[in-house]
Order: sequence, then structure tokens, then C-alpha cells
Amino acid sequence: MSSFSTSPGTRDILAPDAARWRQFQEVFASVVQDAGYQLIIPPMFEDLGVFLRLGEATDVVTKEMYDFEDKGGRRIALRPEQTASVCRAFAEHRPTTPWKVWYSGPNFRYEKPQQGRYRQFDQVGIEVLGVDDPMLDAEVIALADTFYRRLGLKDVHLAVNSLGDDGDRERYSTLLFEYFSANLAQLSEESKITLTKNPLRVLDSKRREDQALIAGAPKIRDYLSPDAAQHFDSVLRALDALDVKYAIDDRLVRGLDYYRRTTFEFVSTALTAAHTAIGGGGRYDGLVEQLGGPSTPGIGFALGLDRTLLACDAEGVFGAPNTNVSVFVVDTTGGLQAAEVCNLLRNNSISADRAFDNRSMKAQMKAADRSGASIALIIGTDEVAAGHIILRPMNSGEQYAVARDQIVGAVQNEITKRK
Ligand code: AMP
Repeated sequence: MSSFSTSPGTRDILAPDAARWRQFQEVFASVVQDAGYQLIIPPMFEDLGVFLRLGEATDVVTKEMYDFEDKGGRRIALRPEQTASVCRAFAEHRPTTPWKVWYSGPNFRYEKPQQGRYRQFDQVGIEVLGVDDPMLDAEVIALADTFYRRLGLKDVHLAVNSLGDDGDRERYSTLLFEYFSANLAQLSEESKITLTKNPLRVLDSKRREDQALIAGAPKIRDYLSPDAAQHFDSVLRALDALDVKYAIDDRLVRGLDYYRRTTFEFVSTALTAAHTAIGGGGRYDGLVEQLGGPSTPGIGFALGLDRTLLACDAEGVFGAPNTNVSVFVVDTTGGLQAAEVCNLLRNNSISADRAFDNRSMKAQMKAADRSGASIALIIGTDEVAAGHIILRPMNSGEQYAVARDQIVGAVQNEITKRK
């Protein structure tokens, strides 16, 4: 017999963590739905071409894609992120703008698995298509900030930068290329390769040998067009007005070719591992066009669920919610009574569980204990004959009989007392 375990970089999320995941998604949904965002559920795999549009200079596209040929001979890829899918959906369905959507779900990247870095990982995020207003940039950033706060996180730092407009990026990119080329000997081998593909990405290098050179590199802020500079200034003023704390980080460049103007990243200072980035986003242009739609500005962010929960652990906040049932029904008469009473309680929105296999009273009481229920209902032959049920608040050492037709009200009373 062979036995199996999860594939590298994937894991089973079991109780109580699974309930925490769901709660995470629910808190996110409530934050963004309150701001007018609608849920979008794109497919988990798409035509490979959709993701190739993210740019040839990113590892996500060149090295980490889960792509394959399906039985119909199509080139398919599991999504490595969801922005491209959202833009493809926009180009396909042409909704009215502004189109404000949110998403939640797994992505797939063939990475080297380690703590905080998985091959299947979850993200929640938002995208808005069709609006260039800097007030929107501030709204988007503030929503991520609000969400982290809602989780209870405090040690989250927001870095912002502007990549300027198309022309600015190009000019700056050329400048960077010249700067790094003139100092090539001081650059790591990896960064030399990056330099030929996308000079901006060299600023992303975390390698120690690159740091001195990066620190002296020209800053894009000094090369912004007046329009882009004013846009960035408006975003910062709006963030100030919304009391969102940030630091300008001149080295913050997002790798994708389509990023422009506002870019931002959230880092958890409570995480000591290498992967402290818990979310990020920015403006992008041209992606919708590349996917067959009209030229449309876009902005969004993606927050890593797995990593954000590690940050929650590190700060001791946002624990797993209690998903225990309220009531455990113990039935020593064969089990049919428990079936009926559980049904009655559940139909009255009271959570209830029971044991099976007609176990002994002692075994059923043990199961009641294990269930974490705060109330046990006990039914034996005497109780059936008298039309009663014994109600025992757990850990109280007391119990009392309740007429069977009064049981829902009595349980509700006990639950209220406990709140
Ligand atoms: P990105 O789509 O690369 O901008 O990533 C956005 C966020 O997703 C990051 O800040 C991480 O929190 C999370 N993330 C990205 N890749 C992974 C991964 N392989 N495992 C876990 N989380 C990830």
C-alpha cells in the first residue's frame, strides 16, 4: 500500500486554522464591500497568454508558472496572481466603469517552499478599472490599512513610491541602466542579468553586495513629469487626511512592466523571516489593452493571507474563532431522541451535536466535554417517560429538568446568560 502526503509547498489547513482563514476572508469582505467593491470569482486556470502579459522580466512569469498542455492541446496556466485575470475579465465583459471588484482565493507559483513562501498560497485583493483620480489611490491604500487594523495588527509599515508615467519610467530606466553599467564590477552576478532585462528590478535586489550601489542610485522622484509629481502629491495629501501612516521609499519598484505612478507595499516588522512583505499593489496601465480591451487605467492590491496570518501569530492577534457547538445532546435510549432534539435546536439556529453508535452515558459525556459545548442535554428512558430533558450547563455541577416542549427557550436562556 502506498501512502501519500501533501505535495511540496502545499498544506492542509485544518481546524482551528481553517476557521481562522474563513474569518480572515469575511473580515476582508466586510471592509471592501462597505466601500462598494463587488466580489469577482475568476477561474483558477487560464490561457497561458493571459499571464505572459504580466511581463517577461518577472520570475513569476519566467520561472514559476504552473503551465501545461491540456488534453485539447491548449496551453494553460494555473493563475500565479489575479490582476491579469481581472483585466482579462474586464476586456471580455466590458462592464461600466469605475469597475470596483474584490477577490479571494489561491494562486500557484513554483517557488522554493519555506516558511511564508508556498507553491499554493492565498491572496485577498481589490482592483479598480477606469479611474485615474489620485483620490482612488488613497482609497485603495487606506482600505488595506483599515483591513490590517481590523485584524488587530499594529506592526505593519506602509511604503509608497511613484514610478511616474510611461515616459518617466523609460527615462529613469535608461538612467539606472547607465548608472549600474558604469559600476558593473560592484554588482552581483544575478543583478547583472536583471539589469539587462529590467534595470528597475535591480533596485529590488536584497543581496548584500548590491546595497551600496543601490543606495547611491538616482531616485525616480527626481525624474517625475509634472503630472505624475502632482498625482503623487495628491495621493500623499489624501493619505495624510485619512490618517494613514506611510514612508516614501525611493527604492520601491514593482517589477511588472505595466506598473506606473503610485506603488506601495506593506511590511510586517513583527516577522523576522526573510519574507516580511505581507501585501502590495499599485497602478498599472496597458494591461487591459494587452488583453484585448480598451486603454483603461487600473489600480489594486493583493494581500498574502498565509503570510499575514503569520504576522498575526507574531503579534498575538486575530486568533481562531470559536466554532464549537453550543449544545451536545446525550441520548441513552438508542439515538432517535438525540436526532429529533438536534434537529429541533438546529432549526431554531442553535448549534448542536451528538454522539453516534449508541455509546454508554459515560462515553457520551466525554464526547460532550470534548466538543466544547457549553450545555449538555441528557435524555434517558425516565426523561422520555416524563416528557422531560435534563439540561446541564457544563462545568457548573448543576442540572435541572425542562419540559421537552420548553427546551428551545430554556437553552436560549442559558446561552444568553453565558454571553
Ligand atoms: P505579489 O503578487 O507577488 O505582489 O504578492 C503579494 C503578496 O502575496 C505578498 O506580499 C505576499 O504576502 C503574498 N505572496 C506572494 N507570493 C507568495 C508565496 N509564494 N507564498 C506565500 N505568500 C505569497
